[in-house]
Amino acid sequence: MFFHAHPDDEALLTAGTMAMLAAEGHRVVLVVATAGERGLAEMGPGDELGETRLKELYTSAALLGCARVECLGYGDSGLSPKGGIAEERPDNAFIDADTDGAAGQLAAILKEEEADLLAIYDPAGGYGHPDHVQVHRVGRRAAEMAGTEIVLEATVNRDPLLKALKFAGKVYKFPPEFDPRTFESAYTPGDQITHRVNVRKYTKQKRASMAAHVTQASGGDSDRTLAVMLKIPGPLYRLVFGTEWFVRRDVPPGTRLTHPFEQA
Ligand SMILES: [Zn+2]
Repeated sequence: MFFHAHPDDEALLTAGTMAMLAAEGHRVVLVVATAGERGLAEMGPGDELGETRLKELYTSAALLGCARVECLGYGDSGLSPKGGIAEERPDNAFIDADTDGAAGQLAAILKEEEADLLAIYDPAGGYGHPDHVQVHRVGRRAAEMAGTEIVLEATVNRDPLLKALKFAGKVYKFPPEFDPRTFESAYTPGDQITHRVNVRKYTKQKRASMAAHVTQASGGDSDRTLAVMLKIPGPLYRLVFGTEWFVRRDVPPGTRLTHPFEQA
């Protein structure tokens, strides 16, 4: 089971691993906390955007071979203009949710599916979106409640990401709003990562999954992460997105595993 904050997060972080596991015959379940109705998009925030983004999520999930998709139904907490917690947010914002309450919902699905593995985010929530930090908290607790044995924190190896962005910045002109330096403190340094999953065989599905999130991947002001990523040409894309990274906290740091179910 893969637990994400918003539709499109699965495309960026875990799509290759999901496609790989599905191809290997595993039942892959995708759960999102929110419909992402406060994300940046042409049509503006609101229920209509949420509905559209859930449809995009179903398309993406189908491309990746998911057997089931669930949305926990929390409100997208959004972001303040500076990137922190937004002051104005919906009553049911995911970040305001009681951890045990939300974890109970997720644990119920984990139990129902008899899930062997739960993928969540690192404690920093990747690039720090408050909903992503909450995914970490709620996911950890849910795994405890359901007794899920393997918990993997999906992350990005910061080292090659910074290198690739530096290179891409020389060749392509990023929009002024896209500042590669914001990635300097995001995600996880390489020496803390326990799983490096080679998903080069599945980069086609991963790219298709990203492209399925039309509201996030297109538009005039394409300063959105997805839009920037989709501009990366094939060979570099495989280099950047051909590996997915996870941290498993109950194996010694420095362990180097290559498959989600590989034992240390
Ligand atoms: Zn997100």
